[in-house]
Amino acid sequence: MSLNVANLSAYYGQSRVLWDLSLTAPRGGVVGVLGRNGAGKTTLLRSIAGLHRHVTGSVIANDVQICGWRADQVARQGVTLSREGGRLPGSLTVYDNLMLGRRLALGRGKPPRDLADVWKWFPLLEPLAGRAAALLSGGQRQALVLAVAFISNPTVLLLDEPSAGLAPPVARDLFSTIRELANHGLTVLVVEQAPAWLVGVADDCYLLEVGKVVDHGSLERLMHGIEHDINKARPVVS
Ligand code: ATP
Repeated sequence: MSLNVANLSAYYGQSRVLWDLSLTAPRGGVVGVLGRNGAGKTTLLRSIAGLHRHVTGSVIANDVQICGWRADQVARQGVTLSREGGRLPGSLTVYDNLMLGRRLALGRGKPPRDLADVWKWFPLLEPLAGRAAALLSGGQRQALVLAVAFISNPTVLLLDEPSAGLAPPVARDLFSTIRELANHGLTVLVVEQAPAWLVGVADDCYLLEVGKVVDHGSLERLMHGIEHDINKARPVVS
C-alpha cells in the first residue's frame, strides 16, 4: 500500500512550518526525507501520523484520505510512526512491549505478526525477551522500536531518525532490516539527518528546506547537492 501526500501545510499557532508539501512513497518503497535541523521533517511525520493536526492538504494512505485524522484513527489505517531514540515504556519487558504492538494490530482489526516472525527479523531481541526496555542498549532499543512497529503489522511505516545514537554497525544492520521489510511489501518513509545511511536503502528521496520540498530524486544526486552537510554527519562505515 502506498502513501501519497499532496499540498500538505502545517501550522503551529499562526506560524506556518510546512508549505504545500507533496511526496509519494510507493508500496514496498523506502523513501527518505532529508533536511537540516528545523526543516520540518518531524512535523511532516507527525502530521501524517495524526499527532499534529493543525494541517491542510491531502494525505492518502492505502487509498483512504487520512489528513487531519486523530492518531489512533491513522494507526488503524495501517500507518505507524516509530520515533527517534526509542520512546518505549522502559519498565516493561521486551516481550510486554511487543504485546503492546500486538494489541495495536488487534485494535485495528488486523492480525498481528507472529512472535516467531519477530524473532526471525530481529534475532538479537529473542534472548532479551524478559529484559526491561530501560536496560537495553541504544541499538537494542531501536531494534525493539522497529519490532514493536513490525508486530503491529503496519502497511506504512514512518521512521524518525532511526540511526540516532547508534553505533555504525548497529545502524547498518537496522537499515538492512528496514530495506528487507520494504522488499516484503512495507512502505517506509524515513527521516534521516545522516543520509549516508540511506545509500542502497532508499529508492527515492526528498530534500526539505524551511518546510518546502526543494529537491526530489535519487539519494546519490541529492547527496551531491548537500555534500557539505553530509560530510558533517557522515557515519564511519567500515
Ligand atoms: P530536527 O532535525 O531538529 O528535529 P526538523 O526538520 O524535524 O528538525 P521540525 O522539528 O519539524 O524540524 O520543526 C520545523 C519548524 O517548526 C521549526 O522552525 C521549529 O522551530 C518549529 N516547531 C517545531 N515544533 C514546534 C512547536 N511545538 N511549536 C512551535 N514551533 C515548532
